[in-house]
Formats: sequence, C-alpha cells, structure tokens
Amino acid sequence: MRVLVVEDEPELRELVRAALVRAGFAVDATGTVADADESLRMAAFDAVVLDLGLADGDGLTLLRGLRARGEAVPVLILTARDGPDERVAGLDAGSDDYLVKPFHMPELLSRIRALLRRPNAALGLRLEAGNVAFLSVERQASVAGAPLRLSMRETALLELLMRRAGRVVTREVIEQSLYGFDEPLGSNAVEVLVHRLRRKLQDAGASLSVHTLRGVGYLLSEAA
Ligand code: CA
Repeated sequence: MRVLVVEDEPELRELVRAALVRAGFAVDATGTVADADESLRMAAFDAVVLDLGLADGDGLTLLRGLRARGEAVPVLILTARDGPDERVAGLDAGSDDYLVKPFHMPELLSRIRALLRRPNAALGLRLEAGNVAFLSVERQASVAGAPLRLSMRETALLELLMRRAGRVVTREVIEQSLYGFDEPLGSNAVEVLVHRLRRKLQDAGASLSVHTLRGVGYLLSEAA
C-alpha cells in the first residue's frame, strides 16, 4: 500500500511519514501542491494524507483537480482549520475523511486503515486471476487457496500486475509504483524482482505467469 503525505511543516511531515512506514506502508512525502500534483500523476497511490494550508497553494484545489480527473484515491484531510464550514468545504471538494490538528498518530493510522477497508475505495479488496488470489488489505497472496510467501516488494509487484491482469505493464510504471521516489534503483532491479515472482508463482502451481514482452513491459496472463 502506497501513501502520499502532503504537509508543508517538515517536522510534522517527517512524523507522519515515519509512523506510516512503521505501520508497513510505502510512503512518499512532499510539502507543496505542485510536487503532490506531479506525484499523483506519476504513480498510483492507495491513499493521500493532505494538509490544506500549503506553501504554494490550497490542498482543496489539488483535491478538486484530482476528483475532476476521476481519481478515486481515498483522501484524508489533515488541517488546523476546524470550523464546520471548513469541514463541509473539505468533504464537498471530495475528501473521504477529515482530521483536525493537533491529532494523535494512532488515530491517523486507524483512520487511514478504515479508508483502505472501504468497499468503495479505488482498490479492490480481493483480486483474483486464474487460481491466484490477493487480499489487498491483509497483503496476502494465495495460489489455489494455499498462502504464497512473498517479500514486501514481490507482494507489491503481484498486486500491481493483478490490478492490470491481461494488460501490459511497462517497467517504468513498475519502478514508479514499487519504489519510493528517493530510493536508488539498480538498473536491473525490476528484472530481478520479476524473475523471483515468476519462480515463486511457478513453484506454487499458479495458472498464471509473468510474461516478459521485450522492450515493452510485463504481462500477467496464463502460464504457457
Ligand atoms: Ca500547513
């Protein structure tokens, strides 16, 4: 699960980022509307934590733009603006929840988990393709009902491929989705990861395999 944190106070941003990382999320953090907008166009996030008063603009403008593009990613607004009119404005702009500063970190985490459990969230809770299933909240994959042991990154790759089963996923999309923007990425990291996932699926008797389309990308479809 990948979360984008948009908060312009560096200390608070780091606190939220660190708490989410400890809770098992992949986290990207930024302090401006412009950076957040670029991140949201570049990669798929499972949730956004959004401050409203940002250095270069208003979080609500970012949120309205996101919804206008048809992006259904759950958004939790984090703000010091706590009047009833402010809450209504936030919800009207398309936020899913609203947390007023100061807040307790456990409450933020619990609210994010609640957003991710919502049936109308952008993510499917149970993905299925062939005899492979994936529970996106529990982060557990299975083949023909038997649990499949995967590393965190293998799990994230499988989820990405299953969300796009039968469609080609480019290496660029995989890189953007699986790695925090600040993490260095070896030139063959995706190939190595795909190789390991393919092997594990094969060993477990999966009816699907990760096919390499040279120069194009990867495709999860029926094993040959
Ligand atoms: Ca702020």
